[in-house]
Amino acid sequence: MIDKIEKAGISGAGGAGFPTFFKLGAKAEYYIINAAECEPLLESDRNIMLRNAEKIISGIKKVKKIIDFKKAYIGIKQKNTDCGELLKKFIDVDYIEVKILKNIYPSGDEQVMIYEILGKIVPEGGIPLNIGVIVNNVETVYRIEKAISENEVFNKRYVTVNGEIEKPCVMELPLGISFSDILEFAGKKKGINYIAIDGGPMMGKITDIKDGVVKKTTSGILFLSENHELILRKTQSIKNIFAQAQASCCNCMTCTELCSRYLIGHRMEPHKIMRALCSQNFDEKIFEYATLCSECNICELYACPINLSPKTVNQFLKEKFRKEGKKINIKKDSYEAPEERSGRQIPSDRIINRLDIKKYYKKLEFKDEIPEFTKVFLKLSQHIGAPSKPIVSVGQNVKKGDIIAEKNGNLSMPLHSSVDGKVVEVGSDTIIIEVSI
Ligand code: SF4
Ligand code: SF4
Repeated sequence: MIDKIEKAGISGAGGAGFPTFFKLGAKAEYYIINAAECEPLLESDRNIMLRNAEKIISGIKKVKKIIDFKKAYIGIKQKNTDCGELLKKFIDVDYIEVKILKNIYPSGDEQVMIYEILGKIVPEGGIPLNIGVIVNNVETVYRIEKAISENEVFNKRYVTVNGEIEKPCVMELPLGISFSDILEFAGKKKGINYIAIDGGPMMGKITDIKDGVVKKTTSGILFLSENHELILRKTQSIKNIFAQAQASCCNCMTCTELCSRYLIGHRMEPHKIMRALCSQNFDEKIFEYATLCSECNICELYACPINLSPKTVNQFLKEKFRKEGKKINIKKDSYEAPEERSGRQIPSDRIINRLDIKKYYKKLEFKDEIPEFTKVFLKLSQHIGAPSKPIVSVGQNVKKGDIIAEKNGNLSMPLHSSVDGKVVEVGSDTIIIEVSI
């Protein structure tokens, strides 16, 4: 079974794109299915559960045969309790349970979810497997089921399309379809210069419309005006961010008090990093602490009363630390979440109000129809690990599902065509296929 998952090119659909065959190569006591739809405005997990509940349960049973877990928990936010009720109808074994989680952000962060469900804490710098847990996103489980039962490869995915557009919805889109084709379909409004966010409003990445394409990790696309406050916050230059921090940070500690990793007992204290930035006094510990940041963005987009950007500072230091080839060495013997944790959790509604995105927050319907498109742009790197290695050449005809790039090392993944068509370009990072008419 693991062979089929590998050959289907399945990597994590919920975040970093970790190759699924590799993750399921270990044994674990607990298997957690992350269906929390952590980010406000995204509805992809919700729609995948409503349409495929039986297949998701069947996928979990298949994973049981691979990793022999003792218990599987499906973590779902209260707002999607109806999805939980639907899944329960297909659960006929005692080792699968639906867990309803509070509507807080970031309950879909895998370490936060593990704490909420099992009361266990992943060690600093560690992974869930360190405490006997494997976590997969709900779409990943669905893809596992499709790969094993129907030999289907991972060449399309559920994507929420939302923002300042006429027709927000959820669709199952072919990998490689461009953001510009999607925006045309979703209904542009007059007089808006659009910028896209690939992902949700909190953790999503700013993407130029002309460069954006759907990847295995694209759970949602938000199309917003270039003048929206969220876009302005996310496009500040690092120079400005540093200057503002040095001029204005009063070290009030609010960023630390609300930090999602601090609240599970990790020594992630962003105010100390800001203090070090102000005094330009960086010791090794500061770099190490920065690596503990999950980039949930609570500190930057919610906590700081004067709109400073601790997350971006952490990100910068983390990258510097990585480039210098330094290793994290900060594990404690035991961990305990602070007592004040429950009172400091942030309801998703408050995040929605703070980010000025309430008008986009609604239940979204699934659309069977998809945008018209003439080309797909398939990225060779849609997963952690080395990019896939092209095995097609310009002019070659390919069918939907054909392998077009192969695994290129241990953690690498194969890539498949998402359309019937002709290869028109094989670049260093993208294969372009023109769709057959
Ligand atoms: S970054 Fe903001 S929240 Fe954090 S210590 Fe400075 S002023 Fe306070
Ligand atoms: S982004 Fe901010 S709140 Fe989130 S883990 Fe990092 S430091 Fe903590």
